[in-house]
Amino acid sequence: MNIVLFGAPGAGKGAQAERISSMYGMVHLSTGEMLRSAITSGSDLGASAKETIDQGNLVPDDVIVKIVDARMDEGDCGEGVILDGFPRTVAQAKALDDMLAGKGLALDHVIEIKVDEDALFARIEKRALERRRTGTARSDDNADTLRKRLAVYHENTAPLLPYYLEKGVLRSVDGMRSIEDVATQIDNLLG
Ligand code: ADP
Repeated sequence: MNIVLFGAPGAGKGAQAERISSMYGMVHLSTGEMLRSAITSGSDLGASAKETIDQGNLVPDDVIVKIVDARMDEGDCGEGVILDGFPRTVAQAKALDDMLAGKGLALDHVIEIKVDEDALFARIEKRALERRRTGTARSDDNADTLRKRLAVYHENTAPLLPYYLEKGVLRSVDGMRSIEDVATQIDNLLG
């Protein structure tokens, strides 16, 4: 089973993806995490992506598609993946369709975690504060970048909703409920 977990920054994708991956034995593939570990390891990819990420902009589609494609070819992804933070543009979604078709795989579900607009900034700001407090701050956690990431979501990522709606794979859950309640809604969808 291959799933895209979809939602604005702060919707709670990461926590739900973690849980689904351990519960259903699927690989949790977070492009944000992949990019951050590329930066930490000092690879060329990390070096070229750092400034873009710190500004809250999107890494170019071809770069991100290449790293997802390579990761999907690793043996552990055969049982299924849960994609978190990818695709983020319609071009990435189309590339994902081609990529999966080329590997003989299908996209089974796109699950949107819906969160009220006004709750998002407060949520990501709170998360940023928590990371600072625990010494795990991200360099893209400052208020300007947070605002930019939300704007980029609206501009580039939200157009994926009609794309997947048309394909008939989009399901939505209410992300304003507790983490446990969101988890239950997702489990019900996955059957
Ligand atoms: P968030 O916490 O906002 O959901 P992520 O951890 O998913 O953020 O991503 C952090 C940053 O990494 C993004 O702001 C963007 O610069 C870059 N990034 C992650 N995934 C993608 C992607 N699919 N396409 C382009 N850039 C990406």
